[in-house]
Amino acid sequence: MNDNTFIRPMFAEPDGTVLGYMCAIDWECEIGTADGGNKVHPSVESLKAAHTCWEDCGIVEVRVSFSKLVSPPAKDYGAPTPNDQEGKEG
Ligand SMILES: [Zn+2]
Repeated sequence: MNDNTFIRPMFAEPDGTVLGYMCAIDWECEIGTADGGNKVHPSVESLKAAHTCWEDCGIVEVRVSFSKLVSPPAKDYGAPTPNDQEGKEG
């Protein structure tokens, strides 16, 4: 596997990262440990609609960055793979 593989998110900032919004308690106490994962929302409005806890917990803006490809997508899934750098539409 090519360790230099980079998959750029479709809605990334110019530097390849993505800004998002999380419940501040999820960020402080759960990120990196929650087996069920944690949600990152695309906007404050989206977070408020999904997390009724926001007034108590607070809201943080986070920046998500790509680290490495752990397992390549299936060949017919459309995202670029280490052996298919140009990818496909879809
Ligand atoms: Zn919360």
